[in-house]
Amino acid sequence: MQVPLLDLKSQYAKIEKDVLAAVSEVLSSQRCIGGPKVAEFEKKIAAVSDCKYAVGVSSGTDALLLSLMSLDVGYGDEVITTPFTFFATAGSIARVGAKPVFIDIDPLTYNIDASEIESAITKKTRAIIPVHLYGQVADMDSIMQIAQKYKLPVIEDAAQSISSAYKGKKAGSIGNAGCFSFFPSKNLGGIGDGGMVVTNDKDFYDRLVIMRNHGSNPKYYHDFIGGNFRLDPIQAAALIVKLPFLDQWSQARRCNAEYYNSKFAYTIVNTPYISNDCQSIYNQYVIRVPKRDELVKYLRQNQIGCEVYYPVPMHLQKCFENLGYKKGDFPQAEKAADEVLAIPIYPELTDEMKDYVVEKILSFFN
Ligand SMILES: *Cc1c(COP(=O)(O)O)cnc(C)c1O
Repeated sequence: MQVPLLDLKSQYAKIEKDVLAAVSEVLSSQRCIGGPKVAEFEKKIAAVSDCKYAVGVSSGTDALLLSLMSLDVGYGDEVITTPFTFFATAGSIARVGAKPVFIDIDPLTYNIDASEIESAITKKTRAIIPVHLYGQVADMDSIMQIAQKYKLPVIEDAAQSISSAYKGKKAGSIGNAGCFSFFPSKNLGGIGDGGMVVTNDKDFYDRLVIMRNHGSNPKYYHDFIGGNFRLDPIQAAALIVKLPFLDQWSQARRCNAEYYNSKFAYTIVNTPYISNDCQSIYNQYVIRVPKRDELVKYLRQNQIGCEVYYPVPMHLQKCFENLGYKKGDFPQAEKAADEVLAIPIYPELTDEMKDYVVEKILSFFN
């Protein structure tokens, strides 16, 4: 049996006609920049995330970059974040000229350890970017408390956690801004790159809209230096078709997670820890195991897709050598990088496929 890590073809087969019709509508209209599809999709994402405003952008990475640029974060500034994330989080901070300041993670949730944030705040700190890794929101109450005490804006990197909930609040609605990605492998994936920034702050929203379009306001007059961070209306059209399925897809992922949890109970396989405060959308189902790299080889030999998110924490990346971090600085992040493994969790998995995955993992350890 073959079980890929993700199978987008089976999902697409069910919505192909509607996606093609929606894309065709954009092409016939020849409104290929901005236009009604982008505006409609922005409204819908604002609603899904319980936010007043949403700004469609070209990717999740650009959502982060645009947010930082719109906050005027730049040279000489510091931004606090986690070293255990996809590169874009730290990369965006560095791209505006600021310094990423890393904090170790909570070994259970893999999210930033909020209790360590305060000691990292300096006069140069300009923002905090928690990442809601794998589909679970970070410890936002603690993070917001510290942020409010020091009057620091919080940008939620919710790229993996759209519609995920924390104490009944939606990911992206708790901080000053929330950043989403519509990279095809995310729970709500486009047919190419796309992203969104959500916020409840009208002034910040106005700034984001201007900065998304070269800082131009009115046209050809530039008080600020922005960029081209616009969302493609073809992506918006396809995503409008997919959005109504988001809840059921996330629910199916949760069911698959429960299935795995029960099968791996009382085994050597550590299953994901989900805090009582959170409802995860399981963008990834990540187990923690000894002999992880041998298991990866074994699973691939048995045609089971799996992936390590992420094998090298940000503080040990070559491009961040100049920040002066060294091995051992963030032991929890480093340990997680050596032990985590994402296994197939996508909604269309059958029981036979899940059983095969479980059987192979357990037989490896026996
Ligand atoms: C996917 C992802 C991003 C970047 O999104 P893109 O749309 O691929 O640019 C940023 N942060 C995290 C945590 C992600 O998982």
